[in-house]
Amino acid sequence: MSARRPTMGLEPRYQHDCDACVFVAHYKGYDVWDPVHEESGSLVARTSSEGPDYQSGERVLLSYAGGEEWLSHDDLPGLRARVERILREPELIAAIRAAGGHPAPKARLSDLSDSLDL
Ligand SMILES: [Zn+2]
Repeated sequence: MSARRPTMGLEPRYQHDCDACVFVAHYKGYDVWDPVHEESGSLVARTSSEGPDYQSGERVLLSYAGGEEWLSHDDLPGLRARVERILREPELIAAIRAAGGHPAPKARLSDLSDSLDL
């Protein structure tokens, strides 16, 4: 099992090819970026460092092992806070797992924040 790093979820896992975007959080397998330079109320959700491996728009459909979830630009401030809350409360992660709220109980702890649904 990998050690849980305090920065898990709060730093990008993938390279993003635009220096003007602001990173929001790593959530459910996606690096979420706020393209503030576009002033369009959109977001970017990246799934690898490969240039084309991202979605963007006013809303993006995140797909992950346990289901899917729409994320909109309006969700971005709350998303950062949500990930920070998860990271500060490991007992919360344990409680959710115990309640069966996690779709992949055998997932490494370092990947848990990807799948939590709070
Ligand atoms: Zn950008």
